[in-house]
Amino acid sequence: MRTEDAPLIRLEDYRPSDWLIDTFDLDISLHPTKTRVRSLLALQPNPAGRPGAPLVLDGDELTLKALALEGAPLDAAAYAASPQGLTIHAPPQRAFTLTIDTEIDPSANTKLMGLYRSSGVYCTQCEADGFRRISYFLDRPDVMSVYTVRLEAEKAQAPVLLSNGNLVAAAELPGGERHFAVWHDPHPKPAYLFALVGGALDHVRQDYVTAEGRKVELAVYVEPGKAGRAGWALDSLERCMRWDERVFGRNYDLDVFNVVAVSDFNMGAMENKGLNIFNDKYVLADPQTATDGDYASIEAIIAHEYFHNWTGNRITCRDWFQLCLKEGLTVFRDQEFSSDERSRPVKRIADVRTLRSTQFSEDAGPLAHPVRPRAYKEINNFYTPTVYEKGAEIIRMLKALIGDGAFKRGMDLYFERCDGTAATIEDFLACFSEASGRDLSHFARWYEQAGTPTLVASGQYDGAAKRYTLELAQSTPPTPGQSEKEPMVLPIRLGLVGSQGDLPLKTGSRAYSGDGLVILDRASLSITFEDLPEAPIPSLLREFSAPARLELDLSDGELIRQFAQDSDSFNRWQALQSVATRALTTTGRAKAERSALSVTARALGEALDTFLRRDGLADPAFAAQVLRLPAPADIAREIGRDVDPDAVFGAHRALSVAIGAALLPRLPGLREALSSQRAFSPDAASAGRRALRNELLGLMALAAPAEGAALCEAQFASADNLTDRLAALAAMTLVPGEAREALIGRFAELYSGEPLVLDKWLMAQALIPESGTLERVKRLMQHPAFSLGNPNRVRGLIGGFAANLTQFNRLDGAGYGFIADIVVALDRANPQVASRLLGSFKSWRMLEPVRRRLAQDALGLVARTPGLSRDVSDIAERTLA
Ligand SMILES: [Zn+2]
Repeated sequence: MRTEDAPLIRLEDYRPSDWLIDTFDLDISLHPTKTRVRSLLALQPNPAGRPGAPLVLDGDELTLKALALEGAPLDAAAYAASPQGLTIHAPPQRAFTLTIDTEIDPSANTKLMGLYRSSGVYCTQCEADGFRRISYFLDRPDVMSVYTVRLEAEKAQAPVLLSNGNLVAAAELPGGERHFAVWHDPHPKPAYLFALVGGALDHVRQDYVTAEGRKVELAVYVEPGKAGRAGWALDSLERCMRWDERVFGRNYDLDVFNVVAVSDFNMGAMENKGLNIFNDKYVLADPQTATDGDYASIEAIIAHEYFHNWTGNRITCRDWFQLCLKEGLTVFRDQEFSSDERSRPVKRIADVRTLRSTQFSEDAGPLAHPVRPRAYKEINNFYTPTVYEKGAEIIRMLKALIGDGAFKRGMDLYFERCDGTAATIEDFLACFSEASGRDLSHFARWYEQAGTPTLVASGQYDGAAKRYTLELAQSTPPTPGQSEKEPMVLPIRLGLVGSQGDLPLKTGSRAYSGDGLVILDRASLSITFEDLPEAPIPSLLREFSAPARLELDLSDGELIRQFAQDSDSFNRWQALQSVATRALTTTGRAKAERSALSVTARALGEALDTFLRRDGLADPAFAAQVLRLPAPADIAREIGRDVDPDAVFGAHRALSVAIGAALLPRLPGLREALSSQRAFSPDAASAGRRALRNELLGLMALAAPAEGAALCEAQFASADNLTDRLAALAAMTLVPGEAREALIGRFAELYSGEPLVLDKWLMAQALIPESGTLERVKRLMQHPAFSLGNPNRVRGLIGGFAANLTQFNRLDGAGYGFIADIVVALDRANPQVASRLLGSFKSWRMLEPVRRRLAQDALGLVARTPGLSRDVSDIAERTLA
């Protein structure tokens, strides 16, 4: 594909397919370099399409071997075939069959889209446009067919043969060297949900009976020898299936559910019907090779892909503009599952951290786009935090707006009405509009308008009248292609915090819908609360009820009081984050104002000390979140313009050191109290204790490097799990010197032969905030643990470096040049991974002038490279625009 002619695809140009494919029989004979694919399509004209239209099938790097219409070879003049497509000029205007033979080379497929081999295992990735790399097809989500797939392979090479649906036949072929399996999926699906796997794999399995009584065999397939690490994924699968039955009333609908882990994968995982294919990073877990974070991600991603069976597969998207229909909703569902399995407030805090660092930063830069974009050149570039994370926030707001009961009725109606269809956002919202009796047309603006709204709030207390007036105003900054913004519907959960906790909310305002919820649906609003015996502290956006930036001018003292007294855990956490953010943005802007920092450090130190003393051990996972300051990148985004990353990092380091010093007397005792004599368990409570203990270790390493380093070494030596070892390594990377290098070496020895663990080792080094890191990263690229061909290795080392605020943004521009060179080199093999990496430049416009120019130069170099993929050129153009 050439960049120059990449057309802009627009939502408004959507029209139904001219043809439909009722049934689809695929016969695939697997071979490392010459895989033969025979497709039998049962076609018919679409009544909603254009009468007499030609049949235009999609292709990508395909070679046509044979073509027959109803069994008879087609005359060469009757069709046109190219690697990019196959057109039948004048097909019969009735139902007919077409047989297409193609041949593909899975071993040469380094793009990891379509059919490829990963460590000798045949596997597929077809979302979004991968199927057209296997066979010519109507590769669009609104063409849904019933698939029957016959797979054939050498038995020694691929003893396991899997596809979607249920296994209907399997046998050896004469001679005994080859065998086959036939899979049938009774549920019509689009091509992007097709999958196959062939290889030598171990598995763990378990029987499951759905609430409706269907017997299902669950299995998780992994590389030989790794079955001992598949148990957590299988356990998570069973739990999320039960949860979906209980909470959403959704049952599974096939006789088998297979999960397969592969080591080369562009994304996290893929929800192919009945055959989910995973990046092995999100399947494999045991205490020695997975952290608590890995356990939590595996649980969440297993659930996410499983939940797609209804929100994505049974009801799919009409076109890729509706991607958020399945992704936003399914992220919301997996977040709810994790909240129920773990701690809801801690999960919410973690999700909001992710939202702010990934989505708010996207919204603030040149790649900002609506949750439902209006146009794209390359859909792979729209699998973004905006579509996923902000998409999930919209569902959360919808639930708040119409209430739990109406939300549930709306979901039920959606499942009933849209089952078996390729739906749109309009179809989805219509169900909730009907269920709630509310007009949701204004709310729907969340799908169309990009940018993070700013909510400005101020309050006035009238002591004589015992009245509190709250002024609320919203605005959204311009984003590319949208200079004028309209007010959004913001559901604002709020409370008024007094000296003894929450005060009763009495108001006659129509914007107040009871239960502590105010709906702001215009530019501004004034709301008065009566009968208040004292001046309250407003607690706004409780549970982070809307994805907005809140500007509320409270003093440090008020925020620290809010931290102590607010009944909402999220806003308790937020209160201290706000104190730190204000000090860090002030100091990060102008290095001279360090004095403000020491005042804040003292206040924060005291508040944290009191908190840790009183109830730090009551909820260690929450305490760990409270102790963690906003990341330097978050501060940079708050500053927003002329950012000097070194100044931001310096302020952040100074505040962390000061807080560590203030807490130092208490740290060893607390760490001791959090130690566990019991054997490792991945449960949320144990993980929370480890999280707090390791947060304290990080503070000690900063505040008292010598003692901290000794503690890191001791923890590394005595740990019985990866979480504690990795935390020791990470804390140690902050303390330069020989001891650090020795620990880095010991870690590599201990985990040689464990690629997923070494990815973390690579990343820990890539994140070291020192000027020698770039050279270190270049050296590590020569390490046997690294390979530019494997996406996980690239994300670990190169992605880690690109996330290193001070070193990626080096003042000499070498960080930009390094990443730009790698993007160009990677693009030839794997455009998707390359374009993701190029996304690291998304915040370049907020930098101070010197770095801004250097970043622009590096981006320009990428953009001018001849022969770029559509993925990379699209990101380069939009980032520079
Ligand atoms: Zn998904």
